[in-house]
Amino acid sequence: MRNTQVDDRKLHIETLLAHEGRERGQIGGTVNTPVYRASTLLFPTVETLHAQHGTLNTYGRHGNPTTRSLEQALCQLEGAYGAMLTPSGLSALTTALLATLQPGDHLLMTDSVYDPTRAFCDETLKRFGIETTYYDPLIGAGIADLIRPNTRVVFVESPGSLTFEVQDIPAIADAAHARGALVMLDNTWGTPAHFPSFKHGVDISIHAATKYIVGHSDVLMGVIMTTEALYPRIRGFYKQLGLSVSADDAYLALRGLRTLSTRLERHQRNAHAVAEWLSAQPEVERLLYPALPGAPGHDIWKRDFTGACGLFGVVFKPITESAIRAMLNDMQLFGMGFSWGGFESLILLTRPSSHRTATTWNAEGPLVRLHVGLEHPDDLIADLEAGFQRLRAARD
Ligand SMILES: *Cc1c(COP(=O)(O)O)cnc(C)c1O
Repeated sequence: MRNTQVDDRKLHIETLLAHEGRERGQIGGTVNTPVYRASTLLFPTVETLHAQHGTLNTYGRHGNPTTRSLEQALCQLEGAYGAMLTPSGLSALTTALLATLQPGDHLLMTDSVYDPTRAFCDETLKRFGIETTYYDPLIGAGIADLIRPNTRVVFVESPGSLTFEVQDIPAIADAAHARGALVMLDNTWGTPAHFPSFKHGVDISIHAATKYIVGHSDVLMGVIMTTEALYPRIRGFYKQLGLSVSADDAYLALRGLRTLSTRLERHQRNAHAVAEWLSAQPEVERLLYPALPGAPGHDIWKRDFTGACGLFGVVFKPITESAIRAMLNDMQLFGMGFSWGGFESLILLTRPSSHRTATTWNAEGPLVRLHVGLEHPDDLIADLEAGFQRLRAARD
């Protein structure tokens, strides 16, 4: 059974991005919700203070109009009941896991999960008496066989970190719900614009807003979004942890959000151009970009997602590490760094095999991750072309 938080929005994503999360109705009001910098909120009388007691609005840590505007906009975009902002994507993931699991519970975790999430399961959750079983990201409905009476959460991340496996989330959600487990998703790649998680049976959707939501490589932030049924419990735990984000950061995230679909459209178009060029290079074995016809996971991506982004993997044919280094060490436009989702292009040599336990990653050669930014694709291709020349010179 699907949860009830199915979105039935009538307006398109582009329109929602321009209009949600704004204060309305004030004569002479501003287009954007201002930055409310506040630790202390004041009340004129004992009665008005008491009337607010128990609500979320009595102290700066509980939020302010800027953070609430961002939460409201994100909920409308993804079809969630409630949202909570956290200081990073990782803190959103760890908070949601701790809010839903307790000692003796069992967690099913995709083997292609973001590595710091894995570390949290293996160390902190284990210390708290919560057992994690990793599963093949391509398991689909077969997840049913792994669900135990004490399995509380099935965690999905699609496409997978580094290796881009696209998971059959509706099938996994049906199996999980039939056995009383929740489905928690790291939806960072999909974004609220391109993967309508609650429609596909997800109960808790988490984003590293750091990536495309902020979109400008200048703020770390996470968001947890939930159905109505789960919201009180998770909001209560979030409040007890004392998590909050600054109004300044929330303002920047809202500002980034306004152009989310415009940016994604260009990221996607540029990524297609770069991917097409790469696939013609003799050293490239295959591309891990679900939006590409024929790429792994393309059919499920097409069924469930409404778009893609600029992040994908390139599997090389067997080649020496020094040849790959010669390519990566002198890129002019592709920066080298962790993270992605900003306006600029990035390139990274990855080693997924060291983060696997349920499956093995034994690709032919090295795996390079590209984030294709908003630059002109011809310039990016020229940068890569020069890189391939360095690679060839180092190899020959
Ligand atoms: C970056 C990332 C995170 C963590 O976000 P931070 O804001 O850096 O903590 C979580 N999940 C995925 C898939 C990511 O790429």
